Amino acid sequence: MTAGVRAESETAPRDDVLLEVRDLQTHFKTRAGVVRAVDGVSFAVPAGASVGIVGESGSGKSVTSLSIMRLISSPGFIAGGQILFQGRDLAALSEREVQAIRGRDLALVFQDPMSALNPVYTVGKQVAESLRAHQKLTRQAALDRAVELLSMVGIPAPERRVHEYPHKLSGGMRQRVTIAMALANEPSLLILDEPTTALDVTIQAQILDLVRDLRRRVNTAVLLISHDIGVVAEICEEVVVMYGGRVMERGSVEQVTKNPRHPYTVGLLNSIPRPEMKGRKLSTIGGTVPNPLRMPPGCPFQPRCPKAMDICSSKPELSEAGDGRQIACWLS
Ligand code: SF4
Repeated sequence: MTAGVRAESETAPRDDVLLEVRDLQTHFKTRAGVVRAVDGVSFAVPAGASVGIVGESGSGKSVTSLSIMRLISSPGFIAGGQILFQGRDLAALSEREVQAIRGRDLALVFQDPMSALNPVYTVGKQVAESLRAHQKLTRQAALDRAVELLSMVGIPAPERRVHEYPHKLSGGMRQRVTIAMALANEPSLLILDEPTTALDVTIQAQILDLVRDLRRRVNTAVLLISHDIGVVAEICEEVVVMYGGRVMERGSVEQVTKNPRHPYTVGLLNSIPRPEMKGRKLSTIGGTVPNPLRMPPGCPFQPRCPKAMDICSSKPELSEAGDGRQIACWLS
């Protein structure tokens, strides 16, 4: 399965594609000007596939996921493009229509489980309410199903845990509860936005194992948002590398991690610890993410790119690189 960037001539969604984001533009109006947080992003998630979006803070990856969920609030707005989910353009639907889809066919897990959980209700009630929001179930049937869901996400003694409040659970257990809530209505697409960033390393690994295991057991497609290309490589088949609100490189995880071709992807990979680098100093990408109000007119990575050339002051479009991936770089 491949996640593809659309050809310009395509207008209808492809049959095998669950989600197709086309030329998405999400902007924020500020007193100092308009911030183009997402500036023409296109990618696709085939049914049942796992696609990762990776990039540093400020790359636009989380704004992309919030745009897909239609959770961008003022002063942000979707300024252009399409978000085709199961053939319907989410960007053009009313809030009421989106509410019917959100939480049922399309679910989101946030970085901080406490922001998704209500401290005054038991976890069982919260999972049960997620079910009852979209399914006709009695309270008892929903609670019974909540026990099953907590068991599915690896929470020990789920019959007892359903009656506990979120503050009684560890961070890892809370994140398991939010994943159970997200999976309650068997969504076609689960968006995980930095699901392990707030957790310590051991718990991170357990949550990644859980996501991998769930993907085998339930046929949900996954869109994983992470600053860590190593985390994306563990779960995903395809990766979209974002910088400055744009897609820099897209291809299979194998291609992009073993043979990165965009200088930004090279920088991201060099900054994660790998076994073969034992004893060697990790490198970092020099400089900082540019001020979104003063993006360079050409390639957004130009001020930090070790390979920058004169032509880079013109914007490189994302184009086919000849090996099945797309790259936005004059070197390609
Ligand atoms: Fe570097 Fe130029 Fe490629 Fe941008 S277009 S990544 S500045 S070489």
